Amino acid sequence: MEHLGNSTIKEELGRSTWKLFHTMLARYPEEPKPDERSALGQFIHLLSRLYPCGECAEHFQLLLQEYPPQTSSRAAASQWGCAIHNLVNERLRKPVFDCNSIEVQYPCGCAEP
Ligand code: FAD
Repeated sequence: MEHLGNSTIKEELGRSTWKLFHTMLARYPEEPKPDERSALGQFIHLLSRLYPCGECAEHFQLLLQEYPPQTSSRAAASQWGCAIHNLVNERLRKPVFDCNSIEVQYPCGCAEP
């Protein structure tokens, strides 16, 4: 994947992707079936391969090797997602997010279809 030189696009892409990422994990089943667990694991690995910022993708792939996606439940997946975003934050010297408030920042909205 090519280097994404434009830092504004890289940041906008990052914010949008994180929004999708955490919202998806907030709505992931509390008790996922095996195929749902497999789908989430595959999605995250494919995201790390196809993410359209080469340097980000490379680093994310290394993080996933060390911290594989946790797919056993909504809580496990959301906390894992928060922790992996924090590892990216640390690398970029951004503030670390308090993962205790993940459900407030990304409510599941589960009553809605
Ligand atoms: P972002 O990090 O985009 O976060 C958006 C919002 O999410 C924050 O304002 C906050 O409200 C919330 N948030 C922050 N931390 C957490 C958390 N731990 N859990 C839940 N919510 C949180 N950029 C690079 O320059 N180099 C890279 O190597 C790089 N790798 C990336 C890898 C991935 C997979 C992704 C999705 C993005 C990557 N980025 C990278 C982009 C970078 O992470 C930021 O998205 C971008 O710099 C914009 O930062 P931001 O300060 O607006 O906040």
